[in-house]
Amino acid sequence: MTGVGEDLRAVRGRSASGCSGQQDERGSPGGTGHPKAPVIQGQGRDSATTPPASVRDYEPTPATWGRLLAVDRCDECGFVYEALATGEVPGALRAHAEGYGELILRPQPPDMVRTRPAPEVWSALEYTCHVRDVLLIQRDRVVLALVEDTPSFPPMYRDERVSLAGYQRECVAELVDELAMAANMMAKVFGGLSPRQLERRCIYNFPRATERDLAWLGRHTVHEAVHHLGDVQAVLTRVGGRAG
Ligand SMILES: [Zn+2]
Repeated sequence: MTGVGEDLRAVRGRSASGCSGQQDERGSPGGTGHPKAPVIQGQGRDSATTPPASVRDYEPTPATWGRLLAVDRCDECGFVYEALATGEVPGALRAHAEGYGELILRPQPPDMVRTRPAPEVWSALEYTCHVRDVLLIQRDRVVLALVEDTPSFPPMYRDERVSLAGYQRECVAELVDELAMAANMMAKVFGGLSPRQLERRCIYNFPRATERDLAWLGRHTVHEAVHHLGDVQAVLTRVGGRAG
């Protein structure tokens, strides 16, 4: 989980000048309006193009529920929750945030990071925006669970955020900085939890409403970062292949 940030600074330097350009004002590819989020954690990669009819925070298929509830392991990206010590969560969050920068700041054809491989599949930029928002929301959820006993959380409305939060208008270099900041903010809060606080409970809606502890929430946040980093890589490969 370390070492993904090498040469990031140099890459950022090459790309930062594109922030105020006209391309940042363009809308979503093809003007398709409001597609669904493509990937549910734990589903196969092929499911990225066949999202469920309605997705809020998460809404996996019954088969996915069973698999995820049986073992906290993601068949798609291979993430195993218990394999990550809680003490490793902060470093893993920061390291993977850097990984996004390496991918979306890499020199590539204009607008590649903003291009959806299919109308219903998020672009690399949209995935990255999603992860930034997840990190910010998870931080607040930790705080809430420290204050309230076994709170439940409102959904993040990830699909709605794409348009409502203006993902397509984001400046790539600014987004990378925001992602690093969000990862660091979550890492600091989580890294400050005592063993007793890690055992605080909450009701988490993934894959369906289940009582979890904050240790799980931290690992799950790393899983979000890991899983969607793979999504970004896959989307850029698909878009790049089509362009080539
Ligand atoms: Zn995964």
